[in-house]
Amino acid sequence: MKPAILSIEKWHITLAILAILLGGLLTGAWLISIALSLFGYIIWMYYRIYQFYIWIINGTRQNNVPDSDGIWDKINYQVLQDKNKSNNRKKRLNALLKRSQSILKGFPYAAIVLDQSNAVEWSNKESSALLNIVKNDKGQRINHLIRSPKLYKLLHSNDRSNEIEIESPKDSSVQLLLKLITLGVDSKLLIARDITQRNRTLEMRKSFISNASHELRTPLTVISGYLEIIKEDKSLPQSLSSPINTAYEQVERMQNIIEDLLTLSRLESTNDIQDISTNINMAKLINHICQDLNRQVIIEINTNEIIIGIETEIISLCTNLIQNAIFYTQKHTKIITRWYKDKDKLCFEVQDFGAGIPHKHLAHLTQRFYRADKGRSKEQGGTGLGLAIVNHIAQRHNATLSINSKVGIGSTFTVRFNLSQPSPL
Ligand code: ADP
Repeated sequence: MKPAILSIEKWHITLAILAILLGGLLTGAWLISIALSLFGYIIWMYYRIYQFYIWIINGTRQNNVPDSDGIWDKINYQVLQDKNKSNNRKKRLNALLKRSQSILKGFPYAAIVLDQSNAVEWSNKESSALLNIVKNDKGQRINHLIRSPKLYKLLHSNDRSNEIEIESPKDSSVQLLLKLITLGVDSKLLIARDITQRNRTLEMRKSFISNASHELRTPLTVISGYLEIIKEDKSLPQSLSSPINTAYEQVERMQNIIEDLLTLSRLESTNDIQDISTNINMAKLINHICQDLNRQVIIEINTNEIIIGIETEIISLCTNLIQNAIFYTQKHTKIITRWYKDKDKLCFEVQDFGAGIPHKHLAHLTQRFYRADKGRSKEQGGTGLGLAIVNHIAQRHNATLSINSKVGIGSTFTVRFNLSQPSPL
């Protein structure tokens, strides 16, 4: 049991007073006696501090705790306890680190731990195969080892949802997907995986859809032409009129799907739109689109700002959203289309007051062939590709599409463009 601090300290003070009294009584020099006693006490304290210091620099071990009592005993005891606690914590952290490293070692992806200044702290075996980063590169900045403006941007971005695609520095035919994960306060984990095969499969899918659509286009045009002639033929028996009309409508639907699929593959095949972009006067374009509609649409233009983009694509984006509002609402329901500035964004918006879309569908509406209301979409000749096209066009123009809808109230589709610097015409 540790002695109570006060009782021991009381003894020390009592001893000091006794020494003063004794010295004073024996010599009669009270001041000298007090000074000598205090000096002795200070020397003694200094000795304790020195012992404590030696113990600290020798690693505060249990087996060489300095002889102490009173407050010094308490201090030594507390230091030992803290040391034990921190040792246990260190052991646990080391075990965790070893476990994490062994997981990362067997990881099928390249994993590189970076410090605050983006220098390599640790890397696994895959890093050498995919990114040419070896053990000797420890301490080197990752952007000096992998020269890529995209990686530089990723390292300096705070948005951890970002991913980039780069060519492998070891083999330019290998495509890599890189992602950065924050580890604690001053470390990051860079993960890279080989997506060459995935990209190849995507390319194959795209070219298959594009080729198939091209091949189907001509026969469908021929069938639709013949059906149109037969449909108009006055000698056509009454019993055949209805099936021929249905066949004609279905062929028309297939033609629409083929056209939309071809539009999507065109959008996917040209990535850089800068060279083919022009200044687009959105106010004029919206007015023009709404003039040709078979329904009245309220137009609210609050800005004259222009955007830079591909006009045919922007027409398709606006038309798709306005046509959807018309298709999916009753005849006399109000539809508003807007063009306005919101902080540093320019917004094109279509709001309708129709049936609205249940919340569970909203996140999926831009997927190909996804329909919230299958029956109505087909009845209206919908292809299920309209919003996929809108979303693709928006992305190509660095814009975002957001959908807000409430059942029984209506839907609002908003495309937000960045403010653009007009290029000289
Ligand atoms: P579709 O050719 O079927 O209209 P879209 O991709 O344009 O394909 O739209 C996907 C689905 O989103 C539609 O099938 C429809 O269910 C829903 N939708 C789109 N716009 C609206 C709207 N304004 N109001 C209600 N539902 C809509």
